[in-house]
Amino acid sequence: MGSPGSSAVSRVEAFDQSAPSLADEVATIARKQLAPLAPAIDQGEVYPAEVLRRLGEAGAWSSHLPHEGPADLRCAIEAMAAIGEVCGATAFMAWCQNTLVWYVGNSCNLKLAARFGDGFASGRILGGTGLSNPMKTLFGIEKMKLKGRKVEGGYVVRGALPWVSNLGRDHFFGTIFEREDAPGELVMFLADCADPAVTLTPCKPFLAMDGTGTYGVQFRDAFVSDELILADRAAPFVKKIRAGFILLQLGMALGLIKDCVAIMDEVDGPLGHVNRHLPQQPVHFKELFGELERETMALARDPYNQEDSYWRKVVALRLRAGETSVAAAHAAMLHCGARGYQRSHRAQRRLREAYFVAIVTPATKQLRKMLAEP
Ligand SMILES: Cc1cc2nc3c(=O)[nH]c(=O)nc-3n(C[C@H](O)[C@H](O)[C@H](O)COP(=O)(O)OP(=O)(O)OC[C@H]3O[C@@H](n4cnc5c(N)ncnc54)[C@H](O)[C@@H]3O)c2cc1C
Repeated sequence: MGSPGSSAVSRVEAFDQSAPSLADEVATIARKQLAPLAPAIDQGEVYPAEVLRRLGEAGAWSSHLPHEGPADLRCAIEAMAAIGEVCGATAFMAWCQNTLVWYVGNSCNLKLAARFGDGFASGRILGGTGLSNPMKTLFGIEKMKLKGRKVEGGYVVRGALPWVSNLGRDHFFGTIFEREDAPGELVMFLADCADPAVTLTPCKPFLAMDGTGTYGVQFRDAFVSDELILADRAAPFVKKIRAGFILLQLGMALGLIKDCVAIMDEVDGPLGHVNRHLPQQPVHFKELFGELERETMALARDPYNQEDSYWRKVVALRLRAGETSVAAAHAAMLHCGARGYQRSHRAQRRLREAYFVAIVTPATKQLRKMLAEP
């Protein structure tokens, strides 16, 4: 893509030296600006737009842009893990934003890239992704919820998505409709939340993730101009971006698991004499974390790899990440005992966040289905 790539060039070229500095910079913002907000985000009282923009200025949403062909997701994942150590909801919003950037960075629509690339990659414009339903449809689980028909200069889109996150009135997100005039043909586009034909409805409270700007989105014959089309043929486009879509989620899992280990370590002083009888110890999760991190960093260097064996490794890694997140948060709760059962303690927040890692698309059950099928 055009200008947005330029901000990422220095990051990617200098990855080996500068990777820690992006993650460090992001970790500092997370500790100083995000940590005090984490409980209010968890309660759904705050949507942290300002912090997301600040993280964008630091480069958190641009390091994974393709650079003259290849792309490297390692920096972006490390940065998201640093966010996830502090707040799982914000790590999810980071994934939403990074995924949106990933779509635009891979689009062949140069006009769209020129208009939105910099805005998304710098965090000036925020947004997300509505690919759960299409991802489930492409793997034989659901039917497409959005339908579109070709008209002069674009498409008219109708239908509703039950949950899309990191949204607000001035936000955008990437999603897919099926053509009514050409059944089976899928088109990927950027939805503009400011369009009067697009309605955002607040969701009923969730177990966690309430501060993530998550809405039900309805399209009432919304006109989507050709300038907002990410890919006229969405199926091959999804094949190109799907490994990146999944690998970027590892940032959420790694950050959360690391903090669960920290929680277990924190209570070792007062409770270690009895906690040592628990079957799962922090050292166990440190090892699992190391394995997941190594595998993630190996796969994240090569997100365009189209080999089936590579794809199955990505799916298997994502499954392990969800399961390890839940196991680590469960163990952290047991290590903490009553102090972790208090609403003011982050152990119970971590447990609720961990379930989200395991249920967000591709959910544990979808990943198992994908691995079970040849
Ligand atoms: C907090 C939160 C944020 C999310 N953010 C996004 C996002 O940004 N983008 C995105 O694409 N997806 C988002 N999702 C959806 C998510 O990725 C999963 O698709 C969802 O958790 C269910 O996945 P599943 O595979 O377990 O499907 P299942 O739960 O097995 O089935 C899901 C389907 O069941 C139906 N359904 C079940 N319950 C309801 C309900 N209460 N209201 C309406 N329909 C229902 C719908 O048809 C839905 O597609 C979000 C979900 C949550 C809980």
